[in-house]
Amino acid sequence: MNPAPSVLALSGGVGGAKLALGLQRVLPPGELAVLVNTGDDFTHLGLRICPDLDTVLYTLAGVVHPKQGWGRDAETFGFMDELRRQGGPDWFLLGDRDLVLHVERTRRLAAGERLTRITAAFAQRFGVPTQLLPMADSEVATLLDTDAGPLEFQHYFVRLRCEPRVRSLVFAGAAQARPPEELATVLRSSALRAIIIAPSNPFLSIDPLLAVPGLRAALRAARVPVVAVSPLIGGRAVKGPTAKIMGELGLAADTASIARHYAGLIDGLVVDEADADEAGTLGLRFAVTRTLMRDDADRERVARTALQLAERLAA
Ligand code: GDP
Repeated sequence: MNPAPSVLALSGGVGGAKLALGLQRVLPPGELAVLVNTGDDFTHLGLRICPDLDTVLYTLAGVVHPKQGWGRDAETFGFMDELRRQGGPDWFLLGDRDLVLHVERTRRLAAGERLTRITAAFAQRFGVPTQLLPMADSEVATLLDTDAGPLEFQHYFVRLRCEPRVRSLVFAGAAQARPPEELATVLRSSALRAIIIAPSNPFLSIDPLLAVPGLRAALRAARVPVVAVSPLIGGRAVKGPTAKIMGELGLAADTASIARHYAGLIDGLVVDEADADEAGTLGLRFAVTRTLMRDDADRERVARTALQLAERLAA
């Protein structure tokens, strides 16, 4: 049997998965649990699609598309080609291998199985030693109010490539959601020693998680250090609309804004070398490393830095 997790990571998709992989590589097998955003999930062509869960799963299984950071490696697109031929909606790319998870997930959900159980079964089939947990079993949907009108998440993110200006966000269904019981087991375990917030988009990927009632309090009640890794490097996002959205919401795209966003939740922050001077002015414990994760050595270094900061904070 796997040991109880000693580290819980909070993650969105591509950025979060990089750190999750680093943590999985530096920890003994079974010692990592990852709580994943499901606010991006949607139903498309009758299929229940969970982009962040699948990105983390493929990454931890070593089968993710190496350049994209999402989707499967060695993918084929016969389904999309035929769908296009039939005039079906082709703005959301579904590879043939990737499609299997959506079909199988949809079948099992319809049969009454919980998303947490289905996800655990997928992870086991892929030989992933990490416990993957969706933030809730019930549906939560991130909705954006933008200058192009109200938008569902994937329409904003994929179809409109994050171009509209964001005015505000709501997480529909969050108030009725509950974290899965498996998370309570992780948080109550005496084996737990750190909670790490991955450098995922704080607004699109981590906020939906924190909107699930009781989750923030449950993280604090675990009484272990909570450490975030900043998604910004010198005021820029590595990828995606984090800095753009911060500007649209009237925030400076800097380390101080990230620290303020997580105030009351985090005990420490990992920042890039480019942001070390600024971090020193925040009145928050921090650690510095190169946080750009291009290869496994980078992912392991950032993971170790976060774990070492948590260890220092616990001492
Ligand atoms: P998404 O759901 O696929 O958009 O992915 P996430 O929300 O998990 O990650 C997006 C965030 O990850 C962006 O804000 C990026 O700046 C950040 N990110 C991506 N790669 C890296 C990296 O190598 N280092 C750091 N520090 N942040 C990264």
